[in-house]
Amino acid sequence: MAAEELSARIRELQSKLEESEARAATAESKLALLKNRASKPQASPAMLYDREQVGFTYRNESIQPLRAVELSAEESNEVVETPLIAGGEVIGDIKITPSNQQPWTAEEARLTNNVAQRVALQIQNLRLLAATERARTEAQAATRQFTHESWEGFLDGIRNSERIGYKYDQAAVEPYAESKPAEHDIQETVNVLDEHIGNLYVKADPSQPLNEDDRRMVSAIAQRVAQQVENLRLLADASRARADAEEATRRLSRESWQAYTQRSNSALGYIYDTVQVKPLTDNTPLGNVNFIQPLTVRGEAIGRIAMADAQVTPEGEELTAQIAARVSEQLERLRLTEEIEKRAAELATVAAVSSTASTTLNPDELLQQVVDLTKERFNLYHAHIYLADESWNTLLLAAGAGDVGHQMATSGHAIQMDHKSSIVARAARERASIVSNDVRTEKDYLPHPLLPDTRSEMAVPMIVGDKVLGVLDVQADVTNRFTDEDVNVKTTLATQVAIALQNARLYAEQSATLAQLRELDRLKSSFLANMSHELRTPLNSILGFSDVILEELDGPLTPNMTNDLKLIQKNGQHLLHLINDVLDMAKIESGKLNLIIEKFNLHDIIEEVTSITSPLASEKDLALFIEPDSDREVFISADRTRLRQVLINLVNNAMKFTETGKISIRAVCEKANVLIAVKDTGIGIPPTHLEDVFQEFTQVDSTTTRKVGGTGLGLPISRRLIQMHGGRLWAESAGVDGEGATFYIFMPIEANVEESEPVTKAK
Ligand code: ADP
Repeated sequence: MAAEELSARIRELQSKLEESEARAATAESKLALLKNRASKPQASPAMLYDREQVGFTYRNESIQPLRAVELSAEESNEVVETPLIAGGEVIGDIKITPSNQQPWTAEEARLTNNVAQRVALQIQNLRLLAATERARTEAQAATRQFTHESWEGFLDGIRNSERIGYKYDQAAVEPYAESKPAEHDIQETVNVLDEHIGNLYVKADPSQPLNEDDRRMVSAIAQRVAQQVENLRLLADASRARADAEEATRRLSRESWQAYTQRSNSALGYIYDTVQVKPLTDNTPLGNVNFIQPLTVRGEAIGRIAMADAQVTPEGEELTAQIAARVSEQLERLRLTEEIEKRAAELATVAAVSSTASTTLNPDELLQQVVDLTKERFNLYHAHIYLADESWNTLLLAAGAGDVGHQMATSGHAIQMDHKSSIVARAARERASIVSNDVRTEKDYLPHPLLPDTRSEMAVPMIVGDKVLGVLDVQADVTNRFTDEDVNVKTTLATQVAIALQNARLYAEQSATLAQLRELDRLKSSFLANMSHELRTPLNSILGFSDVILEELDGPLTPNMTNDLKLIQKNGQHLLHLINDVLDMAKIESGKLNLIIEKFNLHDIIEEVTSITSPLASEKDLALFIEPDSDREVFISADRTRLRQVLINLVNNAMKFTETGKISIRAVCEKANVLIAVKDTGIGIPPTHLEDVFQEFTQVDSTTTRKVGGTGLGLPISRRLIQMHGGRLWAESAGVDGEGATFYIFMPIEANVEESEPVTKAK
């Protein structure tokens, strides 16, 4: 090492010596280029490096640096000398020593002159090039200087919004006191993202006034300065952010370690006495500690290595420092690993508890499982859940872990919501977790007789949306049990439990509602079925006796009596119709209507329907007919009576809502299905109401219906009946008066009887 240093030093001294020798070489140092007249004139000018006082010699086929003193007496005597002139200035000369064998001719002398001129020119070029190069390097250095040093002050200025300036007078950059120079030739604004942050003033040398080019350059410089300032600001921001992040990391490490040492009730340290490692206790004799090496993690002290009765040499100190570094690193790694494992285990517990909770639909069972699992899995002294009552007055203990919890819950333990010092009530009121890491220090703390060993307690609100359902309260029998991390974990748990509880409650509510609805529906249907039966019997007798009277079996009638009786009969019929419809609907809805399927010719039924309805058609002077192209040989399996009922209803409706024109019926067989259409030329149905008419008690226009009568049940019943056959019933109409409406039945030839089920409707 020393030898290397020495030789480096020698080399340095040598080069210094050479340098000073070179400087010492006089201005007469000459350039000897040619030894041989046959040499090429463009002899390697690129070999010239330095502009001052150097010479080169071309001798024995090679070019070498030359100092005047090196010319031998003989050579000096016999030279031919030619000056090197560039730009009218003598910048050197060429000396040629002709070969002994060959004399120097006039031609050769001319050639030498030529060569000299070219060499001079070339040298000058190189000088200019070198000068330019130097200027560029200097400029670069100046820029660097500006950006890294002078502008740092400026940077502060930007940050602190101070009004500061700098001036540069070709010698140095200095702070500028005045707000702006008194006289200036050019003023340029410096803008960063359109924000004016300063000005650049330029004052020219009076002998060299500024021209347009200069002004442009100043403007360009102002832009560059702005850009640079912005870059620097960004850089400063970035470093500030990094510093903040570093500070945060340090703080986190410090806090984590504090929490860690507080929590792990491990020994204060360990002691090694060259025989064994033992935990350090308060009363371990420490001897004479005379060397201490701190253990640090990210700049935060986490412990120290101390030595007693030790003589520590500088090497020993270095070694302990290294050991301390490695130990700290390893300790930190172990702590982090432990922390991560602990976190993972806790989250797994949260997942286990909440998944158990979410599969339990009984709210009470759910809460009991949650408290038991929480206590067991998190190794706690106690866990219980309080629920807020509807009026938000009290928090009632809903579930507690183990026997103690059960006892407390059954005794109806409750906390007033406005209880000042209860951390459970506070957690509910403040909607935030509250931790007490030493309950005995809490004001007004009264230990529950069943939980005498509680030392730490944490209350976490159970929140869904913006509603606090209750509080999860966990307790430990040691102090300092709950860390920020525990708060996070239990908050997650409480939220999940709250959601599961909400779901369970909603489910229970929904099941209850559903059961109620079912019961109501059953009651309604059976009521209707009974009532219609009860209504029908007296009504039938009213109709029967009015018939008897009308036929004058009980004596003659006056015309007025006949009229009145006919009205009684008409309304009685209407009432019967209504009762029948209600009964049908009730039967369908309660699943008590069964189809009786038989095979028959569809055409027969259609003919039957036309003959039944024809009296009304002729009364209204409407044409009622079966289309000639209607399929007459369609044998279908269906409930004959019900299909006839549907068709009668459709034809009756068609006649009710048609004043003039015709009603036609057509059946067309399509593969295994049949399409029956009942078409009229009446008022039609607005397209927006085409589906409404199939809703119970819905009539498009109550005034028309009042005129023509109706219950609003015909179409819904018809649709259900067709659906029970596995078919569809729908209407088509443009809603234009005179164009009418067409009702279609599309059903399988072999009825696809649907299992009739009670229909539940929540209205
Ligand atoms: P309603 O006993 O009142 O006729 P429906 O369920 O049979 O009950 O019909 C419901 C409503 O559908 C009727 O009140 C009427 O407004 C409309 N509607 C049914 N058939 C026709 C039709 N062919 N042309 C025009 N409107 C009709």
